[in-house]
Amino acid sequence: MDQSERLRRALRPFAWVDGDPDPRGLQAGFVLLVVLDRLLRRAGGVPLGDGNWPLRGAALALLILLVVMVLPRSWRRTPVIAALAVADLGVVGVSSLGPQDGGTSLLVVLPALWLGNRLRMPGALITVAGSLLLITLPSLAVHGLEGEGLSRAVPMPVAAGLVALALAAGLDLAELARRQAEEGEQRLQRTLETLEAERQTSQEVFDGADVGLMLLDERGRLVGMNRRYEEFIRLSLPGDDLPWPGDTFAADGTTRLTADQLPSARAARGEEFEDYRMWSGADPATRRAVSVSGRRSVSPAGNVVGAVVAATDITELMRALAVKEEFVATVSHELRTPLTSIVGYVAILLEDDTLSAQAVAQLRVVERNAARLTALVEALLQEAHHAGGPVPLEREEVDLARIAIASVDAAAPMALAEGVEIECDLRGPVLVVADPQLLAQVVDNLVSNAIKYTPRGGRARVSVRRDGERVELTVADNGIGISEAERGQLFTRFFRTRAATESAIQGVGLGLSIAKAIVESHGGRIEVDSECGRGSVFRVSLPVGTEAG
Ligand code: ADP
Repeated sequence: MDQSERLRRALRPFAWVDGDPDPRGLQAGFVLLVVLDRLLRRAGGVPLGDGNWPLRGAALALLILLVVMVLPRSWRRTPVIAALAVADLGVVGVSSLGPQDGGTSLLVVLPALWLGNRLRMPGALITVAGSLLLITLPSLAVHGLEGEGLSRAVPMPVAAGLVALALAAGLDLAELARRQAEEGEQRLQRTLETLEAERQTSQEVFDGADVGLMLLDERGRLVGMNRRYEEFIRLSLPGDDLPWPGDTFAADGTTRLTADQLPSARAARGEEFEDYRMWSGADPATRRAVSVSGRRSVSPAGNVVGAVVAATDITELMRALAVKEEFVATVSHELRTPLTSIVGYVAILLEDDTLSAQAVAQLRVVERNAARLTALVEALLQEAHHAGGPVPLEREEVDLARIAIASVDAAAPMALAEGVEIECDLRGPVLVVADPQLLAQVVDNLVSNAIKYTPRGGRARVSVRRDGERVELTVADNGIGISEAERGQLFTRFFRTRAATESAIQGVGLGLSIAKAIVESHGGRIEVDSECGRGSVFRVSLPVGTEAG
């Protein structure tokens, strides 16, 4: 209940304060009070005085009531009430001309209230002016300026004016408060409408997104999910009979996930993850592969307020990858068998002493190229074998310095042929828990690249050192180098720099991507620092590791 409503209720007994008052009711009430006054006077034996003024006043009030009664209904408006109030001031003026005023003058309060109510501040002025003209002046005229006349005449307009003023000010204030409250309410309403519109837009965006989204609160409870996410879940739970989490599978498409391994469960535990691949659904025709990421959402104050899980459909990508891997594996496999027989027969032929020097030279070319093809096929097969995923490792404690020495020894003939000098800084042992075969493959690749991509007369340097809990292998050369623009793609499959292809240096661009996969499977990283035309430095850093396994 607002302030103005409270005021209205308080004044309800005075019917003229609230709503559009009926002048007949107002005047009837006034007449009643006047008549009551006269009766009480009579009962109390108060003399009416010479001019019978109190009775004349009562008669005037009755006359006014009669006039009001015959007025058309449409006239019952503010001007009529204002005129009525002024006329009743006249009634009070006439009545108080008697010898003893009694309570008559108090009735001035009623017209003052009506004027204050209907006309506010101007009403208060009319009250003062009307009282002066119709009450004070006649009273002074009849009773003269002696004390009694003055004391009866002067306070009345002041009191009447104050009553009208107080009511006008009170009503104005109440109205102002009501208007402000209404404006506040309208503003609030507009803000609520804007918020609702924004909420609807966000909901539409949320639901229409091609990415499945799920929101969790800070305690890991579900806040909401969009339609796309629901679709993924429905694929996993085609019927009501399947226990949670239904048909959800790991990236291999066959290993069932437990409820704990679901992205929602991981996010609820506060884990953050990226590109978590899984399959929803068991039916090969309808199942979808998704890549899911989970992120904690943090308020501007830095508190964790929940988590967001986002799932992207990668079915086509997964199918394309599977087809590609199968294709590469099949082709490589089909190439390996004839290649083995080519290599074998060339070796047998080369043992024949009767061959001419020219035939031997030609067979050597066949042998070299067959060896290159074999290396390529091996690389393709290896790549297809663990494409995208971690390389399976057989770890044991190995000396990285020893592996590097073996690599440099094996590359020595090649370095000699290419006119590249190899230096070593290999004070061992530098122990690390790793897969020796795969680590040797990485070092071989880096050393042979350093020789391949360094022009005749250049130098390559291999060093190994332990740095706290990590070991570091560095292979540096002063060869053709790699431009900054190309460095970012260096470890992607089949990428070769322009300088390498233009110089017709042979290679297929698989060695570094395989090396990266191997290093990362060990929990390490491989980086390159290079300048075009000045040389390159490849750095492999691996955690020392504690257990073989
Ligand atoms: P490949 O040597 O068979 O082409 P890699 O994956 O080992 O394949 O290397 C990819 C590419 O990186 C190479 O083709 C070459 O362009 C560039 N590269 C590798 N090592 C070096 C190096 N030491 N100096 C300059 N370029 C290099």
